[in-house]
Amino acid sequence: MIYSRHNIFSKIAGSENFFIVNLLHGSADILNSAEGKMVSDLLEGREIPGEFRESLTAQGYLADEREEELLYRSRYLDFTDERDEEEVQLFFVPNYSCNFACSYCYQDEYANPAQELTTGIIDAFFDYIRREFAGRKKYVTVFGGEPLLNSARQKALITYLIKRANEAGLELCFVTNGHSLEEYTSILKTASIREIQVTLDGTGPVHNMRRFLKGGGATFDKIVEGIDACLEQQLPVNLRMVIDRENIESLPDLAQFAIGKGWTGNALFKTQLGRNYELHHCQADAGKLFSRISLYESVYELVKKHPHIPEFYKPAYSVSKFIFENGRLPDPLFDACPACKTEWAFDYTGQIYSCTATVGKPGESLGTFYPAVTRRDELIGVWENRDVTNLSECSGCNLQLACGGGCGSVAKNASGTIGSTDCRPVKELLELGFSAYFDQKQQPDR
Ligand code: SF4
Ligand code: SF4
Repeated sequence: MIYSRHNIFSKIAGSENFFIVNLLHGSADILNSAEGKMVSDLLEGREIPGEFRESLTAQGYLADEREEELLYRSRYLDFTDERDEEEVQLFFVPNYSCNFACSYCYQDEYANPAQELTTGIIDAFFDYIRREFAGRKKYVTVFGGEPLLNSARQKALITYLIKRANEAGLELCFVTNGHSLEEYTSILKTASIREIQVTLDGTGPVHNMRRFLKGGGATFDKIVEGIDACLEQQLPVNLRMVIDRENIESLPDLAQFAIGKGWTGNALFKTQLGRNYELHHCQADAGKLFSRISLYESVYELVKKHPHIPEFYKPAYSVSKFIFENGRLPDPLFDACPACKTEWAFDYTGQIYSCTATVGKPGESLGTFYPAVTRRDELIGVWENRDVTNLSECSGCNLQLACGGGCGSVAKNASGTIGSTDCRPVKELLELGFSAYFDQKQQPDR
């Protein structure tokens, strides 16, 4: 019996207790300090009591090496089979232009090709996805730039796109800055809307300093009216807050605001936090950005001080929230990056990309769907094959089945190649998560 290659063992933040998690064997346990000491002893080659050894074996933390290898291969096949059945998310960008000039926009360096979206290009998109993804479950997410610009021409194009989606029986999501939502609710009502993602970066003054109109002008109040209008019209809203050191202190206020508006009590309302990060080019002030772990450390501290935050947003802390909510571990994650597997992106110039992180970026096109269909199959193959079994650094990493190798685009930006790692601080996140969900019970609403 060996100490499993997939054990993640550490001390729970701010506690005398430890946790041990193994995604391959589907086991997770909290250990008291004496048990934690025994695992440490085992790791240092010291003898441990037979009874404790047996309990570790029963949970798969001690495993037969050969059996573990077979289990790994079989779980990998399950993973790829399940992914082949998964729904595909197809992003469509009708324009890269935007009526906002957000302080941190990564698309500000993109050229805006003079070409314009036409109904013919929308037809070519729907024809391509019907052929290429025949027999796959799928939905379309309309993305930008800003897709819901308040002009007659844009409204006509979005109306046409909705008509084509309805004919194809496809649900739609929209990712919008939310400024023209009120003007669009009657159009959106004609679609089968899965969700509308809108961004607020804090309460009024903080949001308005970061997300303002081109040429200046506050946007908070108008977006809030748009969110209210959507919820009144039964259109699901996913509120995203993009966070860095400049606005994190506004999280408790925004949470309170959303609670006060009654949004958090509405089943059609959900939230997410987005970490502001260096996607394609240096942010003017990189010092204001959080690393993945420092963001969640700050959120953890804020939740301790402001226990109403989880009513608005519950941090995942790797797989911690999943265990808390489901009473079991998620399936092993052999690949965290859906690009060219369950995610593709298309833009109004007829180009095809791997995902939202690469769409519109010079040099990242994987082919065209308009005016002619072309495919860079070799490059597509590189994206399709990226998973922890193909990334050499991941093969010896005990975190691999929670991390999944991270984001291919972030990895490429850092190292120049898609086939490199974007390491996730899984152990540190679990240290916080076990504390928040199991040790300190940072869950006032449960
Ligand atoms: S990306 Fe890094 S942390 Fe993640 S599995 Fe690979 S080596 Fe481990
Ligand atoms: S490259 Fe990154 S952003 Fe794109 S699908 Fe993969 S994980 Fe997501």
